[in-house]
Amino acid sequence: MNDEIILDVRNLKQYFPLSKRLTIRAADDISFQIRRGEIFGLVGESGSGKSTVARSIMGLYRLTGGEVWFQGENIADPKIYQKNRRNIQKNMQIIFQDCAAALNPRMTVRNSIAEPLQACGCCSGQALDVRINELLRQVGLDESFRRKYPGEISGGQRQRVAIARAISTNPQLLVADEPVASLDVSIQAQILLLFQQLQQEYGFAFLLIAHDLSVIHLLSNTIGVMREGHLLELAETEELFQNPLHEYTKSLLSAVPMADPVYERSRQILEFDPGCIPESGSLREARPGHWVFG
Ligand code: ADP
Ligand code: MG
Repeated sequence: MNDEIILDVRNLKQYFPLSKRLTIRAADDISFQIRRGEIFGLVGESGSGKSTVARSIMGLYRLTGGEVWFQGENIADPKIYQKNRRNIQKNMQIIFQDCAAALNPRMTVRNSIAEPLQACGCCSGQALDVRINELLRQVGLDESFRRKYPGEISGGQRQRVAIARAISTNPQLLVADEPVASLDVSIQAQILLLFQQLQQEYGFAFLLIAHDLSVIHLLSNTIGVMREGHLLELAETEELFQNPLHEYTKSLLSAVPMADPVYERSRQILEFDPGCIPESGSLREARPGHWVFG
């Protein structure tokens, strides 16, 4: 990891008006940064606003408020996004939970992987197929997969194809929104390991989203905890485990299985009391490098 900030999210707000009276504050005043080579884990239960944050960063929504700085520009500004659209699409890639929906069922694996490479003008002709073979190898699939359709391969293999597609353009930022949530537990570990390997090889900044802390804590350098649209706590992984500051974080940590049998015996599942979330507030630094909402 180095000090270059790849993504800088500042006070991001995404509200969805449902009716005249009711507005959902899906993401409220979210701020964090991701550096080159960093794996940032964003964790929180279902409905806490994780996907909203991911989609807002990717430019899929017009923000209610806040800024998203990428490559030195605030791409939350629609004019700036439009001006840099091709470059952003090449350098920011997203992987979704539902890889079946992410891949076109009528496209072969080869053509699915070729698509972003052709769109960004990264390679063509023979070089394109050489690159596709290389990508297949890097995600653990052999060349026979080139001719297959998404319906003919397993969920784990489909996710590998989606990963090959996403890294094909050598992006600066990879966002993976619950990438293993729909896979068998045994396959989950393989895919997470693959992410780790590829991240070391390619060096992208990585936003890894999960509802389960046990999925991401081994990979993440930094962890942000979300709850009801707020970022409650933000710290380096080790610091978060040693000194969780928020009751909700403690309840998430208590559900993470640990290899240490002594710790394992003393482990308790803690109930989270929603009453401890402040109505409004902002992130403050509780100790150097450890931020807490309050
Ligand atoms: P998570 O990914 O953590 O499960 P989401 O970001 O999907 O959470 O959703 C956060 C909240 O925002 C939920 O209450 C959800 O129903 C709501 N929400 C998300 N997207 C929309 C939308 N496009 N329109 C209205 N409400 C939405
Ligand atoms: Mg989600």
